[in-house]
Amino acid sequence: MSISGDGDMAHVMPRSLPFPQPPHRMSPPDRIMKAAQPHQHFTMPTGRARQATETRIAYCASLRCRYCPADAKFTVSNGLMHLFAAPEVSVVTGAEVRHLGHARNSVSSVTYRAGGRDYTASADLFVLGANAIQTPAILLRSVLCGGLVGLGLHESHGASFEVFLDGIENFDGSTITTGLNFGLYDGAHPTEHGAALVYFENRWSHGMRVEPERMRPTFPIVIVTEELLDDRNRVVLDADDGAFVEFVGCPTRPFGGGRGTQGTARSSGAPAGPGHLRSSCPRNRTTPAGDVAGRR
Ligand SMILES: Cc1cc2nc3c(=O)[nH]c(=O)nc-3n(C[C@H](O)[C@H](O)[C@H](O)COP(=O)(O)OP(=O)(O)OC[C@H]3O[C@@H](n4cnc5c(N)ncnc54)[C@H](O)[C@@H]3O)c2cc1C
Repeated sequence: MSISGDGDMAHVMPRSLPFPQPPHRMSPPDRIMKAAQPHQHFTMPTGRARQATETRIAYCASLRCRYCPADAKFTVSNGLMHLFAAPEVSVVTGAEVRHLGHARNSVSSVTYRAGGRDYTASADLFVLGANAIQTPAILLRSVLCGGLVGLGLHESHGASFEVFLDGIENFDGSTITTGLNFGLYDGAHPTEHGAALVYFENRWSHGMRVEPERMRPTFPIVIVTEELLDDRNRVVLDADDGAFVEFVGCPTRPFGGGRGTQGTARSSGAPAGPGHLRSSCPRNRTTPAGDVAGRR
């Protein structure tokens, strides 16, 4: 993916190898914070190329990043097509992984559904990345569960602020979000309230002031904080072995306004009907777990 990033970030998130691309250019507020907190403030790692690669040009700084006009931002089609072109690679689209077959602590097969039929494939190595809702559902269906599987679903919330600067001109960083500040990320406070990440923005998120001398002394930041974990917010299985989200809210912000109010939803968004069997782990069902596998 040719990620551009700041090697100093290993202080909070060690990597196995250095970032393949050098960091983007920081904005002036970033440089001030970097000097004040060298091990807590870093250039934002990003898939927006700092330098041209064989298949991408360098970031164009037009800040139109959602659909990159210059093809500088990593996508599968500009960065991974060599994998798809390899003769030993097959891609099965429209397939749903239902179940992983395993024995003695090793996964050895996958059962997936495509075109109304179930297929099984075997391999030496499996990588599961089906997101925070569907990954635990696959593990639960496979009876690879217990422990924390499916527990602790939680939200993060971002709040945007505009900081007015005095004598500092902003907006000469080389990408759309230039800095990540970890000053509120770790420490004792997450036992009582959410940890926070602060994003330093290099764009006019709050509009541009009309007077030329006031256009640059302004600085948008986004503070993102996570809710506290609560194991009652979790992914379980419904009667059809589909993902089902049980969400009661977080200790400081219960779902639906009232403390203890329970919200439930299928991952598709449709409510479950009464009497639907739900289980956090098929091991706990009255139906033997073997029957879950035996149906396939
Ligand atoms: C509106 C929005 C804006 C966001 N903006 C940002 C942002 O600016 N920056 C940022 O860092 N993050 C952002 N995020 C979060 C980010 O998109 C997610 O954290 C990230 O995509 C999660 O990656 P993932 O690979 O875990 O899951 P996903 O991206 O959800 O990928 C999982 C894949 O698995 C497939 N899948 C699921 N179940 C199965 C199954 N049973 N069989 C086969 N395939 C299956 C899905 O179809 C999907 O393709 C945003 C998210 C949203 C919704």
